[in-house]
Amino acid sequence: NLSDRLERSFKILKGEGKITEINVAETLKDVRKALLDADVNYKVAKQFTDTVKAKALGMDVLTAVKPSQLMVKIVHDELALLMGGDSVDVNITGSPAVILMSGLQGSGKTTFSGKLAQLLKGKRGKKPLLVACDVYRPAAIEQLKVLGEQIGIPVYSEPDCKNPVQIAQNAIKQARQDGQDLVIVDTAGRLAVDEEMMREIKAIKDAINPNEILFVVDSMTGQDAVNTAKEFNDRLDFTGVVLTKLDGDTRGGAALSIRTVVNKPIKFVGTGEKMDALDVFHPARMADRILGMGDIVSLVERAQEQYDEEEAKRLQKKIAKNQFDFNDFISQIQQIKKMGNLKDLASMIPGVGKAIKDIDIDDNAFKSVEAIIYSMTPKERSNPELLNGSRRQRIAKGSGTSIQEVNRLIKQFDQTRKMMKMVAGGKMGKMMPRMKR
Ligand code: GDP
Ligand code: MG
Repeated sequence: NLSDRLERSFKILKGEGKITEINVAETLKDVRKALLDADVNYKVAKQFTDTVKAKALGMDVLTAVKPSQLMVKIVHDELALLMGGDSVDVNITGSPAVILMSGLQGSGKTTFSGKLAQLLKGKRGKKPLLVACDVYRPAAIEQLKVLGEQIGIPVYSEPDCKNPVQIAQNAIKQARQDGQDLVIVDTAGRLAVDEEMMREIKAIKDAINPNEILFVVDSMTGQDAVNTAKEFNDRLDFTGVVLTKLDGDTRGGAALSIRTVVNKPIKFVGTGEKMDALDVFHPARMADRILGMGDIVSLVERAQEQYDEEEAKRLQKKIAKNQFDFNDFISQIQQIKKMGNLKDLASMIPGVGKAIKDIDIDDNAFKSVEAIIYSMTPKERSNPELLNGSRRQRIAKGSGTSIQEVNRLIKQFDQTRKMMKMVAGGKMGKMMPRMKR
């Protein structure tokens, strides 16, 4: 199982591959930048990276991955944890259960009211009643009615009443009479936080005592979203957050900021204008999105699965003594192949995915390399120095390649070996992924 696997993976490698002050600092710089790019509030970003630093320092790094990659995983998991770890369900107990919407004008309250009604009707067998409490704009009542008709859900409104508290109370009475077991109260927002709006929604809350008060916020408003969330929460003590308009190019940093600042769970995300464009909030997925770092987390996980510590140690020694040979080379290739489809693997590396989208890499890429190495005698494989002109000629023939290809491979091998020795000997060692035999 997973926890066993991780435990095995994190076994201490004495003095090697520890996360040091230096590589932490580097990675955290990237992380902070990614967070700020994703519109995370800078104080939140700083606080977050401090936490991660404290957690990561001195942690043992699996040698098959770079410390920086492991850092990303730590960061990812920490992000997901900070955003709540698991999804939090909406509270719909009670008859009727009452859900109150709050948020600024244009944040998506009316749209979300419709979406939620449809979702809970379909998935949970609820009988919802939508309530139009926006008494300032006749168009707002009309908007909810149109939505209700579209999804087949009744809408309660009182066009002549200017008192939203009374409308909400009457609606609940009506729901009880009609056997509707869920009341969703849509309210009026303003363009900015204002006293009258706050007083009104607080009054509705006090009058109807809702199961849920959801704060609906446009994720594209970025930094502002945090301040708005704080003001609404101070007044309403809401029970959950709905992030709308995540279908745009916003990276959703608001999710992290809001969660950190008000400490209330994000329950849903809106991903479009249509009635079915609604998702339950998943912290891990949002962490992926905020980091925008490709699928590096799965890359690390996969590398951890394939990793063999003893082998890595052995190989490290060989490299240091300049004994890395063609046997090691070919098992490296096999190792890479074992890790899965090459293109899949490469596409998980941030920035690479897009670049190779249209390029044809397949697992045959290593075919001629393998053929050449297999055409060497065991002696030649472990003593590459033996490979003189006539031997190379023989190998080319045996492998069905050309002398040029053989020369190229041997040259590449020499370069790799030199580089590895440099890396293994120098300070860089800690930053490089050590490969397995
Ligand atoms: P309200 O003033 O808070 O009730 O906001 P509305 O529900 O009227 O939504 C304001 C605008 O945002 C409308 O044009 C909606 O279609 C749009 N909208 C709401 N939610 C989403 C969403 O998740 N994605 C996108 N792209 N548009 C949305
Ligand atoms: Mg509205």
